[in-house]
Parts: sequence; structure tokens; C-alpha cells
Amino acid sequence: MGTAAKMNATETLLEPFAKALGQPLTKQSIRTLQINLGKRCNLACTHCHVESSPQRTEELSPQVCEQLIQVIERFPQIQVVDLTGGAPEMNYGFRPLVEAASQAGKTIMVRSNLTIFWEAGFEDLPDYFAQHQVQVVASLPCYLEHNVDAMRGKGVFDQSVRALQWLNRLGYGHNPNLGLDLVYNPPIPSSANFSLTPDQAQLEAAYKEHLQKHFGIRFNRLLTITNLPIGRTKFQLDHRQLSQSYLQFLVQHYNASTVDSLMCRTELSVDYRGFIYDCDFNQMEDRLAKTPQGEPLTVAHLLALNSLDIIHTVQTANYCYGCTAGAGSSCGGALV
Ligand code: SF4
Ligand code: SF4
Repeated sequence: MGTAAKMNATETLLEPFAKALGQPLTKQSIRTLQINLGKRCNLACTHCHVESSPQRTEELSPQVCEQLIQVIERFPQIQVVDLTGGAPEMNYGFRPLVEAASQAGKTIMVRSNLTIFWEAGFEDLPDYFAQHQVQVVASLPCYLEHNVDAMRGKGVFDQSVRALQWLNRLGYGHNPNLGLDLVYNPPIPSSANFSLTPDQAQLEAAYKEHLQKHFGIRFNRLLTITNLPIGRTKFQLDHRQLSQSYLQFLVQHYNASTVDSLMCRTELSVDYRGFIYDCDFNQMEDRLAKTPQGEPLTVAHLLALNSLDIIHTVQTANYCYGCTAGAGSSCGGALV
């Protein structure tokens, strides 16, 4: 059988995600506002689903930033404001949004790559985070230097370790108001010998032991995230002719008990232009949420309709199998 014929056979075997669910994935009352401030980043990691890099210039506009501040102030149902990017700290609007969310008493999370602390003009960030009780969620795809540097660039591990030690000195990881979570992404598969993301609790224990013993670092939780076949991950899987077999592997490990906890059910993900999506992955794939009239939903619509609960059904795709395989996956780690 030729490669094309094999691929078609695999595609035919794949059950669409919507069919596996059996019923539409309903949205619940919104609790989290996740804002992707832009594509600008000081790194260009191989696994980046956002395809960020120092060359990207797309970022929040003053107008959308102002609308988002109004949303944060107006809707008490928002419990968490989750700031991501790119490196969110480098994109327009970061500090005004932190300060609006802090003023409104929200839990503020920043998804930081840590190395940003060492860039000129950003040296005050750790103090700024502590001052506003920003919860830091930091990527550290492995506790071994050569693995991190291979995925994120030379010297990133050393900078990350020193940044974590800096945060610890400010109280992060032990003061209950200064949460410090690390994020584990598995490497992108290089052969068809796929495996599920390791058990979160066991890996957390290994990270804690290693980082404490070798660097004196403390942190709260380790969040494990499965690679979804989108963005740079898909590009690399395509290059290795592994996209379809990886998806098939995720399908085989579909776990229906993860569905109740999927993050897309209670969050809105906003892009730098003010368009709204069910999650960051749908955002990267341009799968826009729609108004009841079928127009792309924007932050301006939320303000005009005076409601966050406009979406009835989450838009799903086959990459959603990445969130429902094994113990499940989300921006908050494993689901079950
Ligand atoms: S630090 Fe994050 S946003 Fe920046 S390139 Fe790496 S994965 Fe992408
Ligand atoms: S990718 Fe994950 S979070 Fe996004 S819609 Fe699919 S299941 Fe939900």
C-alpha cells in the first residue's frame, strides 16, 4: 500500500471528535477570562502552539485593552484573569490589565516564560508580580538542562532556574498569596512510539525533589499539558509524517470522564484584536466563537449585550482529542 493510500485508510478510521462526544459540548457560566495579549516573545520554542517569536509584532490595541478593562470591572462572575501570549509581559496592555484585575479583586495569572526577567526593561517584573499578587504559571518543560535548552534555546534552563530562585526569595512557592506553578510539555514525538503525558502527581514529586536538591527551588504545583497537533507541533509532526498516527493514538486514549472539566466550558479566550474563542487552541486555529446571529463574537459584543454567557455550544475539532486523552489536559494541567 502506498503512503497516500495508508494515510487515507487512517483518516477513514478516525472517529470525529463530535461523534465521540455523542452530544454538543455545552458552555457553562463563564468564570475565566483568558487574554492573549499578542505574539511578541523573547523566545521561539519548537513546541510553541502560538508560533511566537521576537520577530512577531501583533499585540493588543489601546481600544481593545480599554474594552477588556471594562469587562473585568463590570462582570463579578469573572474569577480569574489569565494573561498569556507570546510573552504577555512584552505586549501592550499587560500592566493596565493586571492593575484593573487587581483592583477588581480577581485572581490574576500570568503565563511567564521566566527568561523575560533577564531582558532589558523587564527587571522589575518579579517585584511587580509580588506587589499585585499575580500567580505565576511558568513553563519548564523538563527539570534537566539539555532537554529544556533543546526545546527552548541555549541558556534558557539556567535563566529559568535563576528566575525561579528570584521568585522564591520574594515569597513565591511558599507564601500562600504568591502561587508558583510550573508547566510540563512533553517533547514532540519523533517516532510512532507515542506515550501519554506522564502522571501529573508523580512527575510533580520528581520535579520537586530534583529542583529542591540541586537548586533549592520550591514551587506549588506542576501542570502537565498534552501536545495538541496544531501550530508548530503539527508542522513538525507533518514533517515526520506522524500527524495522523499521533491523532489516532489520542483517539485510542479518549477518556469520556475528562469532558465535564474541559476548560473551554467555563472560559472565554480573547485575542489581541478582541475576537473571542472557546479556548487558546481554537484561537490559534482561527475557530472563532459566533454571536447568535452568526457574526464573529468580540469583546465589544459582550459589552453591548451586557453578558459573558453568549455562547451555547463549544466549537470542537479533532485536535480536542488532545484535551481528552488519558488524564486529560488543560491550561490548568490534568483534568482527572
Ligand atoms: S515562551 Fe511560550 S509563547 Fe514564547 S515561544 Fe516559547 S512557548 Fe511560545
Ligand atoms: S481544544 Fe480542548 S479546550 Fe479547546 S475546544 Fe477542544 S477540548 Fe475544549
